[in-house]
Amino acid sequence: MSMLLRGAPAAAALNEKTAQLVSELREKGVAPTLAIVRLGAREDDLSYERAAVKRCAAVGIETRCAALPENASGGEVEETLRALSADASVHGILLLRPLPPALDEARILRAIAPEKDVDGAAGSSLAAVYAGTDEGFAPCTAQAVLELLDYYEIPIEGKRAVVLGRSLVVGRPAAMLLLHRGATVTLCHSKTENAAGLAREADILVAAAGRRESVGAAYFRAGQTVIDVGIHYNEETQKLCGDVALAEADGVVRAVTPVPGGVGALTTAVLAAHTAKAAARRIK
Ligand code: NAP
Repeated sequence: MSMLLRGAPAAAALNEKTAQLVSELREKGVAPTLAIVRLGAREDDLSYERAAVKRCAAVGIETRCAALPENASGGEVEETLRALSADASVHGILLLRPLPPALDEARILRAIAPEKDVDGAAGSSLAAVYAGTDEGFAPCTAQAVLELLDYYEIPIEGKRAVVLGRSLVVGRPAAMLLLHRGATVTLCHSKTENAAGLAREADILVAAAGRRESVGAAYFRAGQTVIDVGIHYNEETQKLCGDVALAEADGVVRAVTPVPGGVGALTTAVLAAHTAKAAARRIK
């Protein structure tokens, strides 16, 4: 049996640190606050919003939700984001995405003050991730990959990491974060030839290709740590699963994250941690 790297204990450890920081901030008269901006009422947005509100409440962070109509214009969204950016009582802003396709997401994200971009969504945050400075925040899911590796004390420095997927939300920032920590990183995508062969060379394999259970036996070897970022609903089994075919990894690799209950369990904990950090940076 491979070791299962569950997200819950890693999330609990991070939440404890965040709650401590929040209580120190509150003693100084600062109430860390996250503003969540949503368009319409898509079920996945509502479910992430509920999870974020619950997580924040549990660590003492205030939340404020701005629900805009589904057909809000880009200008209206930008105006809301600019007002929250200028509001001194707000420390972090989360814009639930994807936005309707008619809206220019990159332009709208620029209306979030870089120091409040706790979801690491705007270009300024990605630039900070790329440059390896702590002026912004990494996208929460990419950061969750690193939190999980650190919690389970998986060595990163000097190791070979292969990341499957190059999206700006997960693959690319995860690769950058691993690189900054001293891993030798290979970034694969849909055009990569022999991704399975490259993956087999990895000490750390991060699967974020967005293809249900597509990472199977050919990608694995003994001794690997496999982090599965994918989330899919399997109609046949009516269960959630990941990019990794867990049954094919189990017993071969050293350790693997389950889906659900792996990386996904950490994202709101990272969001709360970023919000507390944003508030702490403000008073420095
Ligand atoms: P995405 O935007 O669809 O990107 C998928 C990436 O995978 C693309 O870069 C694509 O390459 C690449 N890819 C496709 N087939 C591949 C293959 N066979 N080998 C290697 N790379 C391949 O997806 P995403 O937003 O990054 O999300 C990835 C997965 O993570 C999804 O399952 C998503 O649901 C999940 N997710 C989970 C969380 C969480 O909290 N756990 C959060 C966000 C996303 P090209 O660039 O060439 O098209």
